[in-house]
Amino acid sequence: MNPANEPSFRDSVDLMFNRAVALMDLPPGLEEKIRVCNATYTVRFGVRLRGRIHTFTGYRSVHSEHMEPVKGGIRYSTAVNQNEVEALAALMTYKCALVDAPFGGSKGGLCIDPRDYDEHELELITRRFAYELIKRDMINPAQNVPAPDMGTSEREMAWIADQYKRMNTTDINGVACVTGKPINAGGIQGRTEATGRGVQYALRAFFRDTQGLEKAGLKGGLEGKRVIIQGLGNVGYHAAKFLSEEDGCKITSIIERDGALHSADGLNVEAVHSWIGKHGTVKGYADAAFEADGAKMLEAECDILIPAALEGVINLSNAERVQAPLIIEAANGPVTAGADEVLRKKGTVIVPDMYANAGGVTVSYFEWVKNLSHIRFGRMQRRAEEARHQLVVDELERLSADKGLGWTLSPNFKEKYLRGAGELELVRSGLDDTMSTAYEAMSHVWHSRDDVDDLRTAAYLVSIGKVAESYRAKGL
Ligand code: NAD
Repeated sequence: MNPANEPSFRDSVDLMFNRAVALMDLPPGLEEKIRVCNATYTVRFGVRLRGRIHTFTGYRSVHSEHMEPVKGGIRYSTAVNQNEVEALAALMTYKCALVDAPFGGSKGGLCIDPRDYDEHELELITRRFAYELIKRDMINPAQNVPAPDMGTSEREMAWIADQYKRMNTTDINGVACVTGKPINAGGIQGRTEATGRGVQYALRAFFRDTQGLEKAGLKGGLEGKRVIIQGLGNVGYHAAKFLSEEDGCKITSIIERDGALHSADGLNVEAVHSWIGKHGTVKGYADAAFEADGAKMLEAECDILIPAALEGVINLSNAERVQAPLIIEAANGPVTAGADEVLRKKGTVIVPDMYANAGGVTVSYFEWVKNLSHIRFGRMQRRAEEARHQLVVDELERLSADKGLGWTLSPNFKEKYLRGAGELELVRSGLDDTMSTAYEAMSHVWHSRDDVDDLRTAAYLVSIGKVAESYRAKGL
């Protein structure tokens, strides 16, 4: 997607990395060891479909094995290539380090447009791709654990998990070979929406940071903020839904691949989503203005711009005209290195991808732990917690009656207090804690160092520091 006069996605990530390491004092040679991609495997395989053999090309790239397993999604798109997969694998290394998910970085991709195939054909293709990767240990609960990304979902993850189980019938931890699975196939509550939920928590963390808000020239809370979102897929849909329904944001524009919808009063995300689901396009949606040149809306006035589709969409050709004071990178690599520089000079604040979309890998980590422990989170504690809370409520009510105090606990309080945390509550709590902690680490560097003037460099400093620490501990 990067225009011809800009570096590739991979080079763009490296340029951003280099900016940060220039401010660090790493042992000689370690910088390069961290930056390079360890290995990329290319596979070409055939699948018989519609009476003939079709050949597909896929990749699995391992950027860093300083921790294992390595982790990263599998993308289905015609734009997939080695350069893109390696850039995304590198981002996974930095992302996992930043949010303390104990993984190295990896990524995979298959060069297809999933819309060209029916479900049965996609299952055949996915299983064959998985087979090629599994037999080389490039999908394995201890070594390499994929997840969904653009063009894939829990459906593909269930096929991959099943394929692994068929090939490793005695591996008791087999289901942990992939995350983002449906609940009935070993998934975890809250994974599907985790990346979008993480974007919401990241924005909440940003809006608690008064210094950060000041740098962006924003005031107040999220309520009423005008948001433009690009891509109403898994990440974009959930982020837009939660921000509008729970934080009072106004989604003034939704940009999709075939145009954009715009409404100054705010769009109904659920209605737009179901329109796209039915018609496969945003065109024809009644309650909004339609703009055929969707990408133009990236430049429209708003408070928060959320690119949640693909990389390179904010580049040297449009960065100067982007008006949003705050950009949160829900997609991976939506801002090129060149555009990043332009925007920094303009004073635009960017919440970087490696932090903003880390909700997905965070909950994937919880899913992997759940799979390895073979028990649902909360199963052992929930009733015990409820029983202890019941004791407190009973005692308060007894005291009130004995002493004639006339206290009554409101039914709403009792209902909430007495309910023990189930898996979804625990996942949300763990995700919120992760996003808040990582924001604090990143913003501390941003605000306290004179030589750091943006959140991306701060994020790189924190994460590269952690990767370097683990290399040091290993004696490398
Ligand atoms: P998805 O396939 O569910 O959705 C992508 C959406 O973007 C689709 O609605 C598609 O129509 C739209 N789109 C494609 N090209 C477009 C264009 N040129 N202009 C506007 N819209 C366009 O993918 P996703 O899982 O939501 O991933 C989106 C981004 O988030 C990717 O960069 C991905 O790497 C990143 N991400 C995803 C996850 C995850 O858990 N799914 C986690 C971390 C990061």
